[in-house]
Amino acid sequence: METENESRLSAIVQSSDDAIISKSLDGIIKSWNPAAERTFGYTPDEAIGQHISIIIPAGLREEEKEINSRVQQGEKIEHFQTKRRRKNGEELSIALTVSAIRDINDNVIGIAVIARDVSEQKKIDEKQAVLAAIIESSDDAIVSKDLNGNIISWNPGAEKIFGYTEEEVIGKHISIIIPKRLLSEETHIIGKIRKGEKVSHFETIRVRKDGREINISLTVSPVKDRHNTIIGASKIARDITEKVELEKQRKLLTKRLQELNHYKDEFMAMASHELKTPLTVIKANLQILENKMNGDTRLEFVNKTLRQVNKLSDLISDLLDVSKIQAGKLEMNKTIFDIIPSLREVIENIQQTSPDHQISLTAPSGSLMAMADKDRIEQVIINLLTNAVKYSPNASNVNVEVLEKDEMIMVKVSDYGIGISTEDLDRIFTRFFRVRGLASTFSGSGIGLYISSEIVNKHGGKIWVESVEGKGSVFYFTIPKATG
Ligand code: ADP
Repeated sequence: METENESRLSAIVQSSDDAIISKSLDGIIKSWNPAAERTFGYTPDEAIGQHISIIIPAGLREEEKEINSRVQQGEKIEHFQTKRRRKNGEELSIALTVSAIRDINDNVIGIAVIARDVSEQKKIDEKQAVLAAIIESSDDAIVSKDLNGNIISWNPGAEKIFGYTEEEVIGKHISIIIPKRLLSEETHIIGKIRKGEKVSHFETIRVRKDGREINISLTVSPVKDRHNTIIGASKIARDITEKVELEKQRKLLTKRLQELNHYKDEFMAMASHELKTPLTVIKANLQILENKMNGDTRLEFVNKTLRQVNKLSDLISDLLDVSKIQAGKLEMNKTIFDIIPSLREVIENIQQTSPDHQISLTAPSGSLMAMADKDRIEQVIINLLTNAVKYSPNASNVNVEVLEKDEMIMVKVSDYGIGISTEDLDRIFTRFFRVRGLASTFSGSGIGLYISSEIVNKHGGKIWVESVEGKGSVFYFTIPKATG
């Protein structure tokens, strides 16, 4: 008959969360509680009478034998970490407590095994080990503190950045790394943490053990316990002193560059202005000479000189325009005029100096009235046409087309020349830009298109280009039509 004691013991075994198994000295399973069934997947019927090796991975049989012999010699094995196998083949991490079962004469007649599945715990431990390794090896300072601001943990990154060792700071108040004038920051941060809020990438200053101040970027998050109660804060600090220093230098250089650029612009405005005056006088005198020398054989020299003087004068005008644009003083005198005769006149002039090209015009019949600065628009057309001729030395045609598009007038200049690479397309309208490698073949200053785009923009129009390298380019611009 079962004694009261025995039935109590049996109830404990039945309700235990740990697998409790007993086996004979030759390894045959004698009892198997419900937790053993849950842990290993075998029912008592399947397990009792079988050899214990059904739950031992092949490589661990020797270990099992050794445990048995140690137990038989009177030793008790406690919390021995090993692996066991479930019925479905899955391996479990197990903590074993093994003890001998003795008869009334103290002879060992069997072995009792208590097995606890620690797989979950093991996973948590492994995860924690990974986290610990990350914290150990991080270059950032990773520090935790309680809600009173006392330091609880301090990684090697923190030691490197702030100069204090772990022993020096654990238990101390975080204010040892906060400059006195910034102490209120800590109250603010802790206030947010208490509310469960995070502080991200907060750029501030901290002080090292040696007194040197450093710039850091701080991220502080609340640390919660199992019951979701906020118990402290973890902070990650990155030393950004170098970055802040570089940023300061960059700002200084940008300012200096802007100043230099400004001096250069002022100089250019002054120089172009000073050049323009004597050149105008030279030009006027040459023109008088040209008129007076009608029929003279030496006229040819005057003409040649005048052509060069005109080039120089155009360049200076362009430079003056650039200066005006820079100073925001390029003004447009808008009037209403028919753009078709303007185009004809410009084409005629350029045709005269470009005998190798045939420039055609396609225009609607009648007139096309624009509301724009006539001289400035002609300047744009001259620039586009001289470029079209200049950059198509091996082609013979240049086409100009003018048409109405929506509420605008659109002018299109097509050439079949060297074209422009996709990479340069966006840049050709910028000041002084010239396609690299062309300077030795084609003379130019890289400002014509810049001025043209400023003029078109000032009219509320658009200028753009489509081009295929080696095939040719099409430049477009739009200006407003005269209304009413
Ligand atoms: P540039 O005086 O050098 O011609 P622009 O401002 O008028 O100055 O033009 C800028 C650059 O754009 C030129 O140097 C040239 O490289 C390129 N470019 C302009 N028009 C054409 C074109 N029709 N075909 C090919 N390249 C062109």
